[in-house]
Amino acid sequence: MTRPPVYMDNHATTRVDPRVVEAMLPFFDSEFGNAASRTHMFGWRAEEAVTRARTRMARLIGADPKEIVFTSGATESNNLAIFGAFEALRSKGDHVVTGATEHNAVLDPVARLRTRGARVTVLPVDGHGRVDPDDLRRAITGGTVLVSLMFANNEVGTLHPLAEIGRICKERGVLFHSDAAQAAGKVPLDVQAIGVDLLSMSAHKVYGPKGVGALYVRRKNPRVILEPILFGGGHERGLRSGTLNVPGIVGFGAALEIAGSEMPEESRRVRALRDRLHEGIVKNLDDVVLNGHPVERLPNNLNLSFAGVEGEALMMALDGVAVSSGSACTSAKKEPSHVLRAMGRSDDQAVTSIRFGLGRFNTGDEVDQVAERVVGAVRRLRSISPMYEAARGGARISTR
Ligand SMILES: *Cc1c(COP(=O)(O)O)cnc(C)c1O
Repeated sequence: MTRPPVYMDNHATTRVDPRVVEAMLPFFDSEFGNAASRTHMFGWRAEEAVTRARTRMARLIGADPKEIVFTSGATESNNLAIFGAFEALRSKGDHVVTGATEHNAVLDPVARLRTRGARVTVLPVDGHGRVDPDDLRRAITGGTVLVSLMFANNEVGTLHPLAEIGRICKERGVLFHSDAAQAAGKVPLDVQAIGVDLLSMSAHKVYGPKGVGALYVRRKNPRVILEPILFGGGHERGLRSGTLNVPGIVGFGAALEIAGSEMPEESRRVRALRDRLHEGIVKNLDDVVLNGHPVERLPNNLNLSFAGVEGEALMMALDGVAVSSGSACTSAKKEPSHVLRAMGRSDDQAVTSIRFGLGRFNTGDEVDQVAERVVGAVRRLRSISPMYEAARGGARISTR
């Protein structure tokens, strides 16, 4: 009997909510206008729809609609924030601070900045994946122009102490950017409360479509100036030229609206499913380590290391269950995850990790089924694992 596949890789992408699809459909069809067309109603109607989405999104994060710039996704938002702020502030300084567990969509642009003359500090994290605000205080110098630290980690779900980081940046007069691709729509997010100046979001991580994102750019206290990275028609107040993805933007607005209104109930439900999965696994297996912060973590994330079992082998054994080992974006490479390594995990522990990313459409039945299959597969793989048997023969495997 073949069972239907189970999707638990919601940090990689999410299914578009049917309500979002419905909201988008007219904008491929009867409402197909270009939002930049000022001379006829096709354009006006498209622009109205974009304005509605912009307003909804702004309300959800405590921003003004003028502070939202639509992009193609969080990767582009991060690039615009990082290159844009650095180039605009060149005369003020050349130092940028980021964190060791950032997504490559932050680490790679920051690495490119080095070739443009930037000095870069990469802050370490503790065993739970959090930066120490005192490390940030020490890292900031007179020449620091930008701090980029993510809201929630895409592999282990850890939430940084953002409000404190925001406060430090304000005190020192340094711009603060945060990649919130995993956090937007999952945890409460208010740009005033956290004092963030630039915030990246992506629709396809919150049950919206792929290929659309946004960058929040603060306009007051301080007014953030960015140098664009795309030039052309001057769309989005000159910050992001290119015809707007109207259906995508409408979908993003609808997705965030749903996420905002259902967040309290949904995060409780998804967290309960996540905890049920965790319990179903650890009550039947020894030597399983949780990667990430036990509390300050996304409600939908469960990243576990199974001693003696390679994540890749476990994924194969879980045929039909979509999970990931390491980060989906880097799983083409076979290297142990840079996130787990930064958290002090050994290479052995890092390659034994599996990331379960739960979501809106998972059910209790799926959770029970996945827990059962994980337990069975890990037992089977361990019984033939010389690495595990050897370790068990001696001392208990270290669970730290
Ligand atoms: C998915 C993700 C990105 C990339 O977002 P895209 O919209 O796919 O470009 C960036 N940062 C984090 C933390 C992510 O999870």
